[in-house]
Amino acid sequence: MNRTRIVLLGATGSIGASACNCIRRFPDRFEIVGLSAHSNRGKLLSLAEEFRPKSVCIGSAAAGGSGGRFDGNVRVFHNDAGLEELVNETEFDVLLNALVGAVGLRATVAGLRKNKRVALANKESLVIGGDYITSLVRSGSGELVPVDSEHSAILQCLTGESHTAVESIILTASGGPFRTSPLDTFRDIRPADALNHPTWSMGRKITIDAATLVNKGFEVIEAHHLFDMPYDRLRVVIHPQSVIHSMVEFHDGAVMAQMGVPDMELPIQFALSYPQRLPLRTRRLNLAELRELTFFEPDFARFPCLGLCLAAGRSGGTMPAVLNAANEMAVAAFLAGTIRFDMIAELLQAALDDHSPVPVDAIEVVEEADRRTRENVSKLISDWTRN
Ligand code: NAD
Ligand code: MG
Repeated sequence: MNRTRIVLLGATGSIGASACNCIRRFPDRFEIVGLSAHSNRGKLLSLAEEFRPKSVCIGSAAAGGSGGRFDGNVRVFHNDAGLEELVNETEFDVLLNALVGAVGLRATVAGLRKNKRVALANKESLVIGGDYITSLVRSGSGELVPVDSEHSAILQCLTGESHTAVESIILTASGGPFRTSPLDTFRDIRPADALNHPTWSMGRKITIDAATLVNKGFEVIEAHHLFDMPYDRLRVVIHPQSVIHSMVEFHDGAVMAQMGVPDMELPIQFALSYPQRLPLRTRRLNLAELRELTFFEPDFARFPCLGLCLAAGRSGGTMPAVLNAANEMAVAAFLAGTIRFDMIAELLQAALDDHSPVPVDAIEVVEEADRRTRENVSKLISDWTRN
């Protein structure tokens, strides 16, 4: 059997590291043919030495980086544009998009235009370009397989079921580190507090998104596009243990849930081998040890970002692209110590209020909304923090 040839973008990140572990476990089954990193040239060099890819892409943040050279047979692409070029010019079977942020959009689109499987961790590309991306899936023979644990769970619950029998999709959320914190303490939340997630170990940006519940809002938009489900049939329930990764409720009242330990290797491996399952000998779920699984309604008053995301999703068009761009700017400013935690929601609200959405029928429409929003939010941040 031929090995599945994988392009792994964002190889030096949290999902990238878990993906490398999955691929190491099955050397007869998977091979890496393309890798990318934004800033860590040394790590990319050592991954390239180990996996011997045909192509690599090194980002602008690593320009001039020190020491070591890629093997002479490796094609080296550069910067954001190089991500799309690498996808276009490398022969592969699966694109695993583990980039963070809107920068992942062109790679997702390029993978689908080549009619390949895109194993999607980069949820931002689907949030901002969902209408366009799903039109590519419908018109071509490419496929989108989710890596996000909730959507992987939903896919597993839906396998073998009819779309018309689905009543609702229920996404679970851990609730993040501030699930029970009083609202009047939110002003004083520091980056270190927000980076301390109770159940998942992830990259910095998504960890902040999990603390504001933007991540869950994005996941509702992601589910809307992936599973062709209207917003009024998508629900969120807080489930602090992160054991049930999501659920599907059917017309007859049956609810299917997928459970497992919170470890991204399972959904990553599943997206690479889908519809087959491969063995994974990591920690196993022990329900008797857990003793209880609990569930709560989300608190929209304490987590206004969740409501803002759902409203942006319902508005559709370029609204989610504006939401995402404002969020990327706000999270970076919060992590840099420039704005307070509670100002993230205020910036999202201001950016959304300022925008009239237009339909997303081309990638350039999304990019224009993204660029304008970054400009506007950057001005807002400097105005709000001047004194
Ligand atoms: P991370 O920050 O750990 O890694 C991001 C990767 O993208 C790195 O390899 C980095 O070099 C690269 N990158 C960052 N900015 C870039 C840029 N401007 N240009 C090119 N490359 C750039 O992030 P992560 O936690 O691995 O998350 C990756 C994606 O997966 C995100 O969209 C996130 O929402 C999603 N996701 C992550 C998890 C998780 O457990 N970490 C779970 C579900 C979904
Ligand atoms: Mg998730």
